[in-house]
Amino acid sequence: MRSCIQRIQGIHSFQVPTPFPVGPVNVYLIEDDALTLIDAGPKSEAAWTALKRQLKEVGYVPEDIDQVVLTHHHVDHVGLLDYLGQESPIDVLGHWRNEPWISQDPAFFENSWAFFKKLYRSFGVEERFLPFLKQMFEGIFRFNCQTGLDTVLKEGDAVPGMTDWRVMETPGHAQSHIALYRERDGVMIGGDHLLAHISSNAVMEPPYPGEAERPKALLQYRESLRKMLPLDLSRVLTGHGEEVTGVHELIGQRLQKQDERATAIRAVLDSGPLSGFDICKRLFPSKYESELSLVLSETLGHLDLIQSRGEVKVMEENGVCYYSAVYWFHEGTGHMPFSSKRRNLHDQ
Ligand SMILES: [Zn+2]
Repeated sequence: MRSCIQRIQGIHSFQVPTPFPVGPVNVYLIEDDALTLIDAGPKSEAAWTALKRQLKEVGYVPEDIDQVVLTHHHVDHVGLLDYLGQESPIDVLGHWRNEPWISQDPAFFENSWAFFKKLYRSFGVEERFLPFLKQMFEGIFRFNCQTGLDTVLKEGDAVPGMTDWRVMETPGHAQSHIALYRERDGVMIGGDHLLAHISSNAVMEPPYPGEAERPKALLQYRESLRKMLPLDLSRVLTGHGEEVTGVHELIGQRLQKQDERATAIRAVLDSGPLSGFDICKRLFPSKYESELSLVLSETLGHLDLIQSRGEVKVMEENGVCYYSAVYWFHEGTGHMPFSSKRRNLHDQ
């Protein structure tokens, strides 16, 4: 893979190990007016050793790097900022929503866990799983950095020190997510927005300071995928695994798979109203316990999707939300709720 990417002038691709099931993270070194690293890797000795070795292979040491541009705030992309910053001052650039995560803002972290606990309970998650979910939430941040942004990047910005690269906001996988796009050769550095070998998870996140509602990550993610369609993309350099060349085709596949999962959830609800956690158990019977937070994110995202289509309604009972299917029938070109002809299951 590296030899292929190195043919794109001025871009080196490095693989940095992570302790996570996703495997190594790809970071990119761009030689231009500034020597720029796109993402950094998790905070671990293994990652640091691997990054230094690969920098050396192309003739650099960490002190040569002028700036790091973050595609998003996940720890496997940002942790090594702490090591890089120790060697010499370094500019960190990224979307403003990186800030509370990479600075480990104590109030934000506390509010986040309070938000997740409330959300999990309303989803019907059994109390016995909460300590485990808290442990997971806190454990991941062992690999996080503690730094701050020097420059905020937003939609349409030119990236300082990187000729012809522009910022495209692509929220969904993370609220802080951006991609960098170079129109002249159709190359995008896409972070985890679109991966070749696995579909990217639209991760649940809490509301940010000053915001009341949680983001609907899967809806945003689909919009961010569609936003790429008008672009003349030759390839997307990804945050994990191989680069993507058949970009439009892959976007179509990802959207279709989400539609299929939404249909599957809708079918599960045919038997009657269920809590979100009940749906998780039925959809993912073999992995809902071992990959709980992922499965919860996936299910909640798809429930948001079918709710946005008016195909499900939510009723609260003793603090737990129950989802029930709304039936529609089509008459001529219009459509109306089927519940006027047949009672909704929740009302039976
Ligand atoms: Zn990520």
